[in-house]
Amino acid sequence: MSEPIRWDVVVIGGGGAGLAAAVSAAEAGASVVLFESEPELGGSTQLSAGMFTAAGTSVQAGLGIEDSPERFFQHYMDLNAWMLKPGLVAAFCEHAGPTLEWLTGLGVKIPATTSRNAHMPGLCRAGVEDVWRGHVPSDQGYGLVQALTAAARRHRVEVVPNTRVRRLLVSGGAVVGVVADGLEVRAGAVVVASGGFARDPELLARHYPAALAAGDDLFVVAAPGSRGDHLRFGEQVGASVAGDGWGLLLPTAYFQRLHHWQSGFPPASRIYVNGNGRRFMDEDASYAVSGGIIEAQGGPVWAVFDERARRSLPPGYAHWDADAVLREADAGRTARADTVEELAATIGVPAPALAATVRRWNDELPAGTDTEFLRHHSLAAKGVTEPLEPIDTPPFYAARTLPAELVCTHAGLEIDADAAVLDRRGAVVPGLFAAGEAGAGVLGPRYVGGGNAIANALTMGRIAGRNAAHQTQRGATS
Ligand SMILES: Cc1cc2nc3c(=O)[nH]c(=O)nc-3n(C[C@H](O)[C@H](O)[C@H](O)COP(=O)(O)OP(=O)(O)OC[C@H]3O[C@@H](n4cnc5c(N)ncnc54)[C@H](O)[C@@H]3O)c2cc1C
Repeated sequence: MSEPIRWDVVVIGGGGAGLAAAVSAAEAGASVVLFESEPELGGSTQLSAGMFTAAGTSVQAGLGIEDSPERFFQHYMDLNAWMLKPGLVAAFCEHAGPTLEWLTGLGVKIPATTSRNAHMPGLCRAGVEDVWRGHVPSDQGYGLVQALTAAARRHRVEVVPNTRVRRLLVSGGAVVGVVADGLEVRAGAVVVASGGFARDPELLARHYPAALAAGDDLFVVAAPGSRGDHLRFGEQVGASVAGDGWGLLLPTAYFQRLHHWQSGFPPASRIYVNGNGRRFMDEDASYAVSGGIIEAQGGPVWAVFDERARRSLPPGYAHWDADAVLREADAGRTARADTVEELAATIGVPAPALAATVRRWNDELPAGTDTEFLRHHSLAAKGVTEPLEPIDTPPFYAARTLPAELVCTHAGLEIDADAAVLDRRGAVVPGLFAAGEAGAGVLGPRYVGGGNAIANALTMGRIAGRNAAHQTQRGATS
């Protein structure tokens, strides 16, 4: 009987982290097999804008921007209130730039031009950083996956789609392979890159209950393969789980059910008000901070706009469309009233406060400044040069707004700076690496802005693959 095939490295999952791991392991001379549970490679990475946060890159240099991994690290740690392990985050910040250059070497194109948003290739403002770090590639997440898939093909990575890894093979405390849909595969090292658990309600309840607070308004945009298999693999080897309670929920109107590319965008001339009838934030604030600010209001918040703003919505989107909003108002789900005071009564906020809030907006923003929340800075970063309209044309509308679009989850297998998985005692689990949403410790309580998760997946994936290959080679010679 023939011996079962033994690979140097098995990679579980063919999204950004898995593909980066497979390519870097193969570049280091390892034989690599990658299992993907779905018919197609790509996972959430393929659905994403592909925005990638990094510092000290050639794209920044091309725009005359001075930046460094050290400055990135300081911002990253401060925004996350130093709740992450500095050694791991320092490694991430140091390797994100070189990983971006590696990707461009594989054919990913990021022009050295200023970008106004995640859909425009170039460099944009990712979050609340003082220098811009959001790198948007041409062809977005799809482009990243295509470039990595082509590199995997060139390096003869064996890609096996439609095959879900069910469990790890463990011998003497070390991971020695996987069982993939009934097939036993032996390996020198295994990289878990199976994404997050956004599509598993039980795991959400256990590891990210804040997502369930959105109730029926919750909708998940993460890829179908986001089933949390990494947490099940981790249980097999007593892996430590980090990142509990953290993830990315984007604020949306209650009626949205799709990512904004399909749902559309709320009208620019709108304000968010809290239960006191007052504005409390820059409505264009980055989602690095906006979800937290909304949650801190401790109750419902509302997007308030007028008839002119409704009519200005561009057609063709599923939810933020003039007719769709009208249907919501006709059905009584979006509040509508002929005066601001009546609108206040409908949504249960103090009428004098809401009236004063709207008056202040009308006095300031149409003239180009927002002295309270500095929204004009965010608008300028987005390339909005026209002053916004006053909110003065009845009827007036209010749509409940809440963090309800679940993009990614952060709880996963705790990794060290080498992307090696740690057990509950803090010791390395021999033969096991993890990256992306499956490998935890880089994505923190605060998503630092667009590009945080892609940079994490590809950077830590690349590190995991390289180290998995080296470990196998060391094992073969010892
Ligand atoms: C719509 C959308 C837009 C986004 N935009 C951005 C952005 O612009 N910038 C940013 O930084 N982040 C963005 N994100 C988040 C980011 O895309 C993800 O966090 C990141 O791509 C995760 O990469 P990953 O490799 O860990 O997981 P994935 O890319 O999801 O890959 C995991 C893969 O593993 C497969 N898999 C799962 N279980 C198994 C198993 N048992 N066996 C085999 N295969 C398995 C899955 O099918 C999947 O293909 C976005 C996410 C979404 C959904």
